[in-house]
Amino acid sequence: MERSLDFQEEHLIFRDAFRGFIHKTIGDDYPLWEDAGIVPRDVWKKFGENGYLVPWAKEEYGGSEADFFYSVIITEELARFGASGLFVPLHNDIVAPYINSFGTEEQKKKWLPPCASGDAILAVAMTEPDAGSDLASMKTRAVRQGNKWILNGQKTFISNGLLADIVVVAAKTGSPETPPHQAVSLFVVERGAPGFSRGEPIKKIGLKAQDTAELFFDDCEIPAENILGQEGMGFLYLMQKLQQERLICALGSQAAAERCLELTLEYVKERKVFGKPLTKYQNTQFVIAEVASEIAVGRSFVDDLIRNHMIGKDVVKETCMAKYWICETAKSIADRCLQLFGGYGYCTEYPIARFYADARVQTIYAGTSEIMKLIVTRSMGL
Ligand SMILES: Cc1cc2nc3c(=O)[nH]c(=O)nc-3n(C[C@H](O)[C@H](O)[C@H](O)COP(=O)(O)OP(=O)(O)OC[C@H]3O[C@@H](n4cnc5c(N)ncnc54)[C@H](O)[C@@H]3O)c2cc1C
Repeated sequence: MERSLDFQEEHLIFRDAFRGFIHKTIGDDYPLWEDAGIVPRDVWKKFGENGYLVPWAKEEYGGSEADFFYSVIITEELARFGASGLFVPLHNDIVAPYINSFGTEEQKKKWLPPCASGDAILAVAMTEPDAGSDLASMKTRAVRQGNKWILNGQKTFISNGLLADIVVVAAKTGSPETPPHQAVSLFVVERGAPGFSRGEPIKKIGLKAQDTAELFFDDCEIPAENILGQEGMGFLYLMQKLQQERLICALGSQAAAERCLELTLEYVKERKVFGKPLTKYQNTQFVIAEVASEIAVGRSFVDDLIRNHMIGKDVVKETCMAKYWICETAKSIADRCLQLFGGYGYCTEYPIARFYADARVQTIYAGTSEIMKLIVTRSMGL
């Protein structure tokens, strides 16, 4: 589809190179990772060796100071491939920015280079068994003891939960009287920290190759200098980064929906029923026309947001609209496309089946559709 974004020659070359790289690196292995419930660590190393991890970081931290278009391309191409369990976009554009924006010079020098090389994989741990949408009610607590912070609590649904070497953890600090929104701080918990353990991978209906897990902090000790930014500012920091997080979700869903349409077009041209191709039936034509129209609307909206995000505009309300509408629409598109495959669409051998299963979570994580709608109406003064 024609894009209104100002991609330059180097971006187009990069897209081709990255597409070739993922086809070569992932190839036919993806179903094996789905069976294992995890992406092999050496795949992350290959991404790092080829400059595909945190490409926007400064050269001194191992990056190449690439603009946001490179992040867009990486997210879109992974989504198009259907490598939905390989959470490179989470690592690159959701977690690493916390370290980059709120870390001290020392912290950035310590943690960003291994993130760029693929030696360290990132996760962010906000959600708890009793605190998902209502994050302010989290119970995980961090208490300062001399030159250490001691963390106690439990996190759940943490993406890259098993692979992660560096976890940005949100925990309560301050006294019980501190207002909830001023009581959250962010900490970096590294692999091997005493008292830090992980549960079994959570079994899910989609994102099968993603090692989503529970994390436990049992008198977990981390050095005092592992706090990110200022104490009590964690909630504000999380809010500041949600625009990009939701935009990444929306643009990944948009690219996945576009791939669903392509796969479906290929199929309906080939498949014959009652002696003629599926394309000759009005129902097929109507479904394709509806899906194509929705994709065109989504594409225009999301590209506009990418442009505004890149010039630093506040598009929090609009990214919530996009996260809600594009993710809901992509879920419905995957469903309607699958229907045109008949029984084959239900078989995991056909990529449309994975697109369908993986689209389901997009309306839940990074803020549910309902929470997105609440933010939209609040910003309208309701
Ligand atoms: C595969 C997967 C990966 C994830 N990865 C991460 C991760 O890496 N890090 C992390 O911290 N979290 C992660 N999450 C957690 C995710 O962000 C939460 O699941 C999500 O925020 C919803 O929280 P909850 O599951 O507790 O649902 P709840 O908050 O219990 O919501 C249940 C229902 O109530 C609705 N609801 C809630 N509040 C309101 C309201 N005020 N008005 C109307 N309706 C409301 C919700 O929309 C939802 O439909 C992940 C989740 C999944 C499934």
